[in-house]
Amino acid sequence: MIKRANNTDPAGAKTAILDYCTRKGALVAGVADLDAVERICPPGHRPSDIMPRVKSVISLGVGGQTQGAWSVPAKALGYFGSTEQRAYTISYGLAFFIERKFQTRSIYCPPDMDPDSGPRVPLQSLKVHAEMAGIGARSLAGDILLHPEFGYMYFASVFTELELEPDGPMEENPCPAPSCVAMYRKIGRTPCMKFCPVQCLDGEVAEDGSQGVMRYDMAACAEMTQQYETVPAAIMNAISAQDRNEREDALFDPDNKMLWYKMSVGSGGLLAQCFECMRVCPLATRAPLADPIARAQQSALSDAAE
Ligand code: SF4
Ligand code: SF4
Repeated sequence: MIKRANNTDPAGAKTAILDYCTRKGALVAGVADLDAVERICPPGHRPSDIMPRVKSVISLGVGGQTQGAWSVPAKALGYFGSTEQRAYTISYGLAFFIERKFQTRSIYCPPDMDPDSGPRVPLQSLKVHAEMAGIGARSLAGDILLHPEFGYMYFASVFTELELEPDGPMEENPCPAPSCVAMYRKIGRTPCMKFCPVQCLDGEVAEDGSQGVMRYDMAACAEMTQQYETVPAAIMNAISAQDRNEREDALFDPDNKMLWYKMSVGSGGLLAQCFECMRVCPLATRAPLADPIARAQQSALSDAAE
């Protein structure tokens, strides 16, 4: 029988774990309060539903787009904006790291959809984990998490039976940014609301400049962004076509041909690849450490100051 390192120092373990995340390329990492996550998430989607003896939920975030990516046309951004795979790779490695170093069970939290609930319900909310770990705050753009320094990130989680001291959610939400409040005062909308191509964002900014109400039409956003849902629709149209021409249109219409192309090359462009609300978001694009250029400049300044 394998003996656990049960005399692990929790503070030292947490430091080693967070160090691992940043060494492997995460910008931020933290530990969510397990009780809070269990309380917020509905039954069937709580960490204990996939790991009954879970003690800690670790969340990490990697950087979003490069600075250059934000300036390309939407049709190009839809192909290469996404870096979530890097977050998943780090969290996968972290589960192995914890088991090796602390001999305590750990899992990479699957970021995937719940097979019992369809393609819009995830097994676990990586967003809740990140929010409770204090590495992102809900924005007016459909609750996308944003960070005051790193802007827009991708998140991944690890569950472990190792007990770690939890962090708390951010004390202040950076959204809406001051320029967004100013725009809202003039036209009643913030940049993300104004430039969403399907107008699925709406909301209110409170008197004190904080978030008042956030409204998000998830179905409209999903129709625009989640093309995997249009694949069965295209096939259904072809099956029920009345004649050969109509069937050909259903399968070979230029839009649908792009679906077959994206599937054949395994393009991430089938998964939520509309970034227009983030392209106009001052936090996503201009937070102090939002992209590799900003981070390199900041690190050069820090080196010069030493
Ligand atoms: S991802 Fe696109 S469709 Fe969805 S809210 Fe943002 S801008 Fe609108
Ligand atoms: S543009 Fe960004 S910071 Fe401004 S309200 Fe929208 S999500 Fe918040």
